Amino acid sequence: MKENILGVDVCDQTYDQLASHLLSDIENKRKSFIVAINPEKIMKAQEDESLRNLLNAATYQIPDGVGVLIASKLKKGNIKERVTGIDMMMKLCEQAHLHGKKVFLYGAKPGIADEAKAKLEEMYPGIHIVGTLNGYEKDEKVIEETINGSGAEIIFVALGSPTQENWIINHKEKLAPYVYQGVGGSFDVISG
Ligand code: UDP
Repeated sequence: MKENILGVDVCDQTYDQLASHLLSDIENKRKSFIVAINPEKIMKAQEDESLRNLLNAATYQIPDGVGVLIASKLKKGNIKERVTGIDMMMKLCEQAHLHGKKVFLYGAKPGIADEAKAKLEEMYPGIHIVGTLNGYEKDEKVIEETINGSGAEIIFVALGSPTQENWIINHKEKLAPYVYQGVGGSFDVISG
């Protein structure tokens, strides 16, 4: 279920519920797009209709931010736990690991996605991280061929917000992965 907070939709599911929806999206070859919602994005979306439409166009808007929980509580809504972008990414990696789904990392400065890949492989031995691309590679042909050639089913996009959300909306129909998550600076955090 979704709740509307000042014009922005937010999902009330837990990590486990979201993970099971996302796995079923892959199994059913449905494209899905996850965006993290925090109070800053909700406030920006008040004046920026295109940002509001972009956030609402995602399949799953996760409540990343205590302020979103408070807003839901004030409205007597159902959002009970915070779902952060980075923890959702970890949950998806865990599921990819358990179910043999292929993962791609796109974004951050050269070398960072490779370091994040190495860290994730340590955390989830045997995980299939089938490719990486730095976020300063802007050649559309290279991007498309690298991602589609990898056979990835899940892609994490770390280009910062709202660049990554715009990128996902504009690319997901022509790319092979089913699940798209915008993860901001998460590769920098994971690579340590
Ligand atoms: N970035 C990128 N390509 C660009 C611009 C930014 O890959 O053209 C990366 C940048 O290196 C950093 C991430 O996007 O890893 C943005 O992180 P930030 O924490 O600023 O994002 P936020 O979570 O605040 O949206």
